[in-house]
Amino acid sequence: MYPLLRINLEKLRHNAQTIVEMCRKRNIKVVGVTKVFCAIPRLAEELVKAGVDMLGDSRIKNLKKLNHIPVPKMLLRIPMESEVEEVVKYADISLNSEISTIKNLSEEAIRQGKVHDIILMIDLGDLREGVLKEDALSVAEEILELKGVRLRGVGTNLTCYGSVIPTPDILEELIEVKEAIEKKFGQKLDIVSGGNSSSLYLVQNGLIPRGINQLRIGEAIVLGRETAFGDRIPHTYDDVFTLEAQIVELKEKPSYPKGILGMDAFGERQVYVDRGTMKRAILGIGRQDVNINDLIPMDSCVELIGSSSDHLIVNLTDCGHPYKVGDVVRFKLRYGGILSCSTSEYVEKVIEEA
Ligand SMILES: *Cc1c(COP(=O)(O)O)cnc(C)c1O
Repeated sequence: MYPLLRINLEKLRHNAQTIVEMCRKRNIKVVGVTKVFCAIPRLAEELVKAGVDMLGDSRIKNLKKLNHIPVPKMLLRIPMESEVEEVVKYADISLNSEISTIKNLSEEAIRQGKVHDIILMIDLGDLREGVLKEDALSVAEEILELKGVRLRGVGTNLTCYGSVIPTPDILEELIEVKEAIEKKFGQKLDIVSGGNSSSLYLVQNGLIPRGINQLRIGEAIVLGRETAFGDRIPHTYDDVFTLEAQIVELKEKPSYPKGILGMDAFGERQVYVDRGTMKRAILGIGRQDVNINDLIPMDSCVELIGSSSDHLIVNLTDCGHPYKVGDVVRFKLRYGGILSCSTSEYVEKVIEEA
């Protein structure tokens, strides 16, 4: 059944191994981030085989699926008050920035007879999660007083909201915060979690400050791409995930709509260019599954034209070999495309064992 998302396990493992190895040389452990593929267990297992130290996901529903895998699980999104019980149950460690939530985690951990590990997130300028640097010591002091949680270290997240690129200076600030906490409270912290796939270029160039000992990596593993500059990582694959959709209509049609033009299916006014008659195909996939901007046709003659909820229109005029109804068109995907196709229950997932 189409549409289908084809996932190549061997390529996934190869990418993960390449990145784990690159990080290991700098004494950095990798949290393998599974959220972009909705934590499909078979894929997460492959990351563990490749040597990741932990598995990380932003959603508890995803971590639940990984419960059987014997590595620590990290919750990446700051916990909601409403999920504290499940956080303690399914995550061994979580990223946090709110003392009230951390207190709840502590109480819940005591109730469950556990100790829950905490990474205190520091906002170093990207303006998503984290306490400001000047508040770190006082929050750390409060965390250290709690019995149900253990402060394992500090972390930061960059290049997500504020598009701030991690630099050695910024990451040195994180290490300073960690050292200040250790000094003031006489308590060793063993994790300095220095960001996501946008920190990898520092590892590649040997510029990552000593003291950063963990990175949380998703995109670089699934797409073989660092995300500070969007460069390909050598010796990795960008086609671990590919999408296949089937042609349901194929006709020579004009390229300019006929009649009085109002709005499209999504209430937007579009601009159309008259390019004469085209060989136009409709594929059985739509915006409910994937944004057209996240698709990269693997056959270079295929041109993306537009899409509505359940239909994707492509131009096949320049294709040498004759496509016909029932044929399949293949795409590579950008990050958002892997995410949405993984999430869509209408997209079949096919895992190719090596
Ligand atoms: C998603 C996420 C990551 C992984 O980011 P990539 O760019 O996919 O490597 C790391 N940390 C946090 C907090 C995240 O939410």
